[in-house]
Amino acid sequence: MALIVQKYGGTSVGSVERIEAVADRVVRFRDEGHDVVVVVSAMSGETNRLIGLAKSIVDQPDPRELDALVATGEQVSMALLCMALHKRGHKARSYNGSQVRILTDDSHTKARIREIDDSRIRADLAQGSVVVVAGFQGVDENGNTTTLGRGGSDTTGVALAAALKAEECQIYTDVDGVYTTDPRVVERAKRLDRITFEEMLEMASQGSKVLQIRSVEFAGKYNVPLRVLSSFQEGPGTLISYEEDNQMEAPLISGIAFNRDEAKLTVRGVPDTPGVAYRILGPVSDANIEVDVIVQNVSADGTTDITFTVHRNDRKKAEAILQDVAKGMGAREVIGDDRIAKVSIVGVGMRSHAGIASTMFKALSEVNINIQMITTSEIKISVIIDEKFLELAVRTLHTAFGLDKTDDNA
Ligand code: ASP
Ligand code: MG
Repeated sequence: MALIVQKYGGTSVGSVERIEAVADRVVRFRDEGHDVVVVVSAMSGETNRLIGLAKSIVDQPDPRELDALVATGEQVSMALLCMALHKRGHKARSYNGSQVRILTDDSHTKARIREIDDSRIRADLAQGSVVVVAGFQGVDENGNTTTLGRGGSDTTGVALAAALKAEECQIYTDVDGVYTTDPRVVERAKRLDRITFEEMLEMASQGSKVLQIRSVEFAGKYNVPLRVLSSFQEGPGTLISYEEDNQMEAPLISGIAFNRDEAKLTVRGVPDTPGVAYRILGPVSDANIEVDVIVQNVSADGTTDITFTVHRNDRKKAEAILQDVAKGMGAREVIGDDRIAKVSIVGVGMRSHAGIASTMFKALSEVNINIQMITTSEIKISVIIDEKFLELAVRTLHTAFGLDKTDDNA
């Protein structure tokens, strides 16, 4: 008998039939004796529809009114789910963010949760009721409705689980867990039974878009075990939690992440003197352009090359800045390249094992993939390669690190 928070995403409450299926699932947990708090998203497509309505009136809707509008989506879901639970003979009560009192700051459309009052929820649970809370929304100090940013219901779920000290926060979605890599690229990708918060953050920030990143950070901070699972099929899903002490059985590499969102910029023939990295990257960061991988070579002739990557959307802007800077310092030229991809192997296992990098480089060399840049962290090694080899690289590494699904573990 435990307290469980379950969050259902848009597709999981996408129709009345789906909402009834969610009610059946909640009832099953109730019948097992658990206390259940449910967080719901808006029915799939609803948030976009509401934003579309607003934009058909004005291009840039007033943020306070936009929040008032989009917060209605989740309120539809919460009330319908309670009705479905009542029909099944269960007590259930819905609350929107302000009724619970999910207190946030006043940054409309991207508010941050400050504090949650759990008293109403606890009182209802004590009465044997299921509590259904609208995700994605809160209220500021002055009583204005706020929202937490797209995908924010995940954060509501985790924040409630933290406040209530729930045993687990279950995130129901349309995939049955977190995979070793994108199954659309590697058919033999498999569902992970578990992954650490740190690994999940690396996988997510690289494009595994199962969970809102902020919710994973939040879960890690408050040590809320998160489980991603499907509301369309049965299965254990993927547990995201802290590393276990006994990592004997843990795989070296948990997954292969990748993205095609970056562009590479090189300043060639930079004088090799103190301060050049700052003179090149300072103006880029002043322009609010985030830099990812950076490489500077040693110099043979008193000059060096500095290469770094930025988001593709920032390439033009960064290149213009660099042209100016390069002229100012007498560098030879600036070269930009969009046709790159980043592939990363991620795993806490590499902390305690040598030779992971060489396994990676060997595997890539065997399929003749040229590595343009390399960057490492404690739990991740990333390479920048030609975009056209991305899928080959991901498949090759997936096999090299033993992640392919076999008939025994299918
Ligand atoms: N309904 C909101 C959105 O579509 C919040 C969520 O689904 O998590 O972004
Ligand atoms: Mg969603």
